[in-house]
Amino acid sequence: MADVSDLLANNRRWARQMNEHEPGFFNRLARQQAPRYMWIGCADSRVPANQIVGLLPGEMFVHRNVANVVVHTDLNCLSVLQFAVDVLQVEHVIVCGHYGCGGIQAAWKKTELGLIDNWLHHVQDVAEQHADLFPRGIDDAEAVARLAELNVLSQVANVCRTTIVLDAWRRAQPLAVHGWIYGLNDGLLRDLGLTVTRDGALAAALPRAIAGLAAPHGRTDQR
Ligand code: ZN
Repeated sequence: MADVSDLLANNRRWARQMNEHEPGFFNRLARQQAPRYMWIGCADSRVPANQIVGLLPGEMFVHRNVANVVVHTDLNCLSVLQFAVDVLQVEHVIVCGHYGCGGIQAAWKKTELGLIDNWLHHVQDVAEQHADLFPRGIDDAEAVARLAELNVLSQVANVCRTTIVLDAWRRAQPLAVHGWIYGLNDGLLRDLGLTVTRDGALAAALPRAIAGLAAPHGRTDQR
């Protein structure tokens, strides 16, 4: 287990190695960032955004919170999204959930953890809106995995409904919103079959992706 002083030493080593590998790397980055991707993921320490997709600093704009939730009035998330879309002009927004998510599990089991219970009500709302996907007697592990997937699809929909994304599409700015999920036990990402690239496409794409969850194809072993 690393001590906090180790972190500073690690950082000096990392900065040195980066500069050796690519001289002037930090100087260039300090002048500007031009990422093509924005990531909306869980705050879980086991899902380090850049690392799992092999991107360097400067290549992905990242927002993380517990259970990767996009709330219509969350100024924090919306500000990150607006800056990414309007100023940085990212071409892809990726909402990424993960199996084994403690936030999703707490939401499903209605575990009382304090203030965060209020945040996780957003995830409980997702489960309640799709109660048909959680039949009585469903195994808890199965339900939590399904809710993690469904939550990603719902948050993709929420991204697509923001004025930020709608305005970008209306001015014909290329922008795709994707829904992915990550497996803690194999380090692999899975595409949940919901990619939206234009205004009006969500209405057909969302039910199709949700129907795809009801008949999982080869993902059961990852749950
Ligand atoms: Zn999580």
